[in-house]
Amino acid sequence: MPHHPVTGSDLRILVLGGTSDARALAGLLDGRASVVSSLAGRVKAPVLPPGEVRIGGFGGVPGLVAYLRSGVDVLVDATHPFAAGMSAHACAAATETGVPLVVLRRPGWTEGPGDDWRRVPSLRAAAGLLPSVGRRVFLTTGRQDVATFADLDLWFLLRSVDPPEPPVPQRLVSILDRGPFTVEGELAVMREHAVDVVVTKDSGGSLTAAKLTAARQRGLPVIVVDRPPLPPGALVVETPGECVAVLEHRYALTEPH
Ligand code: NAP
Repeated sequence: MPHHPVTGSDLRILVLGGTSDARALAGLLDGRASVVSSLAGRVKAPVLPPGEVRIGGFGGVPGLVAYLRSGVDVLVDATHPFAAGMSAHACAAATETGVPLVVLRRPGWTEGPGDDWRRVPSLRAAAGLLPSVGRRVFLTTGRQDVATFADLDLWFLLRSVDPPEPPVPQRLVSILDRGPFTVEGELAVMREHAVDVVVTKDSGGSLTAAKLTAARQRGLPVIVVDRPPLPPGALVVETPGECVAVLEHRYALTEPH
């Protein structure tokens, strides 16, 4: 079905969220469009964006297609850079319905002087490399990915928002916390647990970047998992402000009151 441009505050935007950028975007759009933010429902007590929120999967591409057809003018994929399944579904459903798609993806992190990073293409590759890099691992990839490391005979400190579920490595200490984190705090965690290697996804953004500074200061190697590729041809913006500007210029978002 072709997409018909609309004007004014009638613009109906579906924001696929689960990130701080998605929350910021919902805040910027508040009162300027009819926004629904969507969360997967993975975190037990999520930090909610302002405005209307729906929680739970759509039921694959067909479910998202049906949702878009029920009245969405623009789809914004503001999911985490590693939520590759949802991003692929967003792209497929946008193509099928003709609903325009904007991808909000913050830039990845860049290695600087004094850093000792080992970039790997996947979590599995990170697990393969780990035994040759360290023995006491600070795992910051999130609880959903801990199973990839379950068979390794190393000591792990896992930090996640909710507790991990099996399978997990045999020697594992779990701490529950959610960002933003400070360099002082990260240094204290690394010191207290005598961490000798850090594992992270290349999530980007400032909220969780303190571990990289702390690792540099302590001279620790960091295994950085590269991002999965974006669906080809996507219109990509890097910040919530840039996303609002695109919505203003292309899709007639109303002026702020
Ligand atoms: P994923 O593997 O790409 O998606 C798996 C399925 O979860 C999707 O097919 C969809 O189910 C559902 N889903 C994912 N994001 C959704 C959303 N925003 N709204 C409604 N349904 C959603 O996703 P994931 O990596 O598990 O991430 C889940 C959520 O956590 C996302 O919102 C993401 O932004 C956030 N998050 C992820 C990470 C990470 O490292 N992966 C880190 C921080 C936050 P259906 O097929 O049923 O529609």
